[in-house]
Amino acid sequence: CGIVGYIGKNNTKEILLDGLRELEYRGYDSAGIAVLSDGEFNNFKAVGKLVNLEEKTKDFKTEHFAVGIGHTRWATHGKPTELNAHPHLGECSYVVHNGIIENYAELKKELEAEGVNFLSQTDTEVIVHQFEKNLKTASSEFEAFETTISQLQGAYAILLVTKSKEDTIFFAKLGSPMLVGKNKDHEKYFASSDTPLIGHCDDVNYFDDGDYGYVTPDEIKIFNKNKEEKQPHFTKLPTNK
Ligand code: GLU
Repeated sequence: CGIVGYIGKNNTKEILLDGLRELEYRGYDSAGIAVLSDGEFNNFKAVGKLVNLEEKTKDFKTEHFAVGIGHTRWATHGKPTELNAHPHLGECSYVVHNGIIENYAELKKELEAEGVNFLSQTDTEVIVHQFEKNLKTASSEFEAFETTISQLQGAYAILLVTKSKEDTIFFAKLGSPMLVGKNKDHEKYFASSDTPLIGHCDDVNYFDDGDYGYVTPDEIKIFNKNKEEKQPHFTKLPTNK
């Protein structure tokens, strides 16, 4: 299972699919991407190998600035179906997640009692609905995300994008691997391992457990589990795979 993310002006679709291809060795049963560009979300999911996802996205072009997230799923909660494949949608946000949300059942019960309609059987889907619930009372998208992360128990690498923050990817990591990379063109890349970033990023930051924050074309903001901001710790990647 794997996660990728991208912010930039290049071919977002190809970058996400290439990244997922590099993570295939980790194993998966389905895959998906969501891309936010010019105020619109496009979302594709497919069961089975990445060629199935490639086929579904073949007429989809990404030629402008975009933020995108992608996922290969190794099902833990809910069968490997298209509906259970990530990214999972709320009303205005998409999430991808590797790992397990241990307390998803109680969060789901509360959300359902408040009228939220769940489309999948995954543990992951609670993340996006909980975020959107928190967004109603929070002073910012980041505050809603921070509150959401504090409500989750389990293991995760999470990427979340939301319509009202068109240039931002929110992230959190606990127990599942994830890193972010940047280059001089202000592009940002996320992945579960460094292989997809080689040849694309000059500097990378491996997240520590408990890290969360957000990334835009201009900044990488990281907070630790005590909600204190920390400076990214950049290292260089080899230039060849
Ligand atoms: N627990 C999540 C699911 O079953 C994520 C699985 C994964 O790590 O790919 O959808």
